[in-house]
Amino acid sequence: MHQVRQVNSPGISRLPLLQGGVAVIRVEAVTKRYGEQKAVDGLSFQVADGEILGLIGPNGAGKTTTIRMLCGVVRPDAGRIMVGGYDPEEQGDKVRSAIGVLTETAALYPNLSGIENLRFFADLYGVDDPHRPDQLIDEFGLAEHKNKKVGKYSTGMKKRLGLAKALLHRPSILLLDEPTSGLDPAGIDMVLKEIARLSREKGVTVVLCSHVLHQLETVCRRYVVIKRGQALAQGTLSELAKSHPGPCVVEVETDYPLEIEKDSVFEGDAGGGIGFQAKRLPNALIQFTLPSRDEVPKLVRKLSQTARVYSVTLKGEDLQSVYFRLTEGANNE
Ligand code: ATP
Repeated sequence: MHQVRQVNSPGISRLPLLQGGVAVIRVEAVTKRYGEQKAVDGLSFQVADGEILGLIGPNGAGKTTTIRMLCGVVRPDAGRIMVGGYDPEEQGDKVRSAIGVLTETAALYPNLSGIENLRFFADLYGVDDPHRPDQLIDEFGLAEHKNKKVGKYSTGMKKRLGLAKALLHRPSILLLDEPTSGLDPAGIDMVLKEIARLSREKGVTVVLCSHVLHQLETVCRRYVVIKRGQALAQGTLSELAKSHPGPCVVEVETDYPLEIEKDSVFEGDAGGGIGFQAKRLPNALIQFTLPSRDEVPKLVRKLSQTARVYSVTLKGEDLQSVYFRLTEGANNE
């Protein structure tokens, strides 16, 4: 494990240092080209011990290439990577024994059954515990299908088995590319809970790539937002929201008699309005756009004078809204 320290090389000095934590993964000014195209372009970030980091960005941003470089499958053209204290290029075997990986194609044998696949990989990874494959089959809800050939598994069943395979050797670092795609709602819930549990109880460090941002929000502590191979921003959700502020949008469930058609926008105070831009939504919801969140109490006070307020939901500070502000802002640069 590496203690975080200041590095003064060009490009690396801008790397935000983890405060008081230990960086288990360090990506420093890494670039990867495919021909003329830079898939990853001077990317730097760190992941602290036991942290769950969301690596997010549009299609083609360079997320999978980054994961592949962390695993040592792809070599960076420039920069430096350390995973669990090892350089994936030089010490690939050490890195691979420390990490569990799930990529889009989980590399399972279609002609072997689920349990045969896990037993095969347990052997390959040198897993001592003979009960581990069955334990994971049970944990991932595959007991009923364990003797079925994997070629006949559904997408979600393959994903579950791929995750079980990634966890066989009890890795201290997990690199997960779209771990919930193809899963049913129960599967998504189970996988997210398992990721959170591994981080919380076992101190497992996780890098998670996903386009399903509201799911990430339930488990990730920090995010790195990348686009065209570069980090647009990184930090906790509140840090990202603070550095990329937007209008404060609130959805209020109320019986306030806003006399406008659904979806039309009401501006200003005239006609008995409430003084903020308003839009009627279905289900007794009115969406207000306020200059800042400091105006929320004033809005609620005004509404409560003549109507009942059942719920107030702050929008625009969730991961998806912040992500759109960040990535769309970058479009205009
Ligand atoms: P997605 O969200 O669509 O999975 P991503 O962020 O994971 O995208 P990457 O798969 O890392 O993006 O791709 C980054 C860029 O590198 C893309 O433009 C892609 O076409 C290119 N690329 C990735 N792998 C290769 C390869 N093996 N050969 C050539 N170009 C590649």
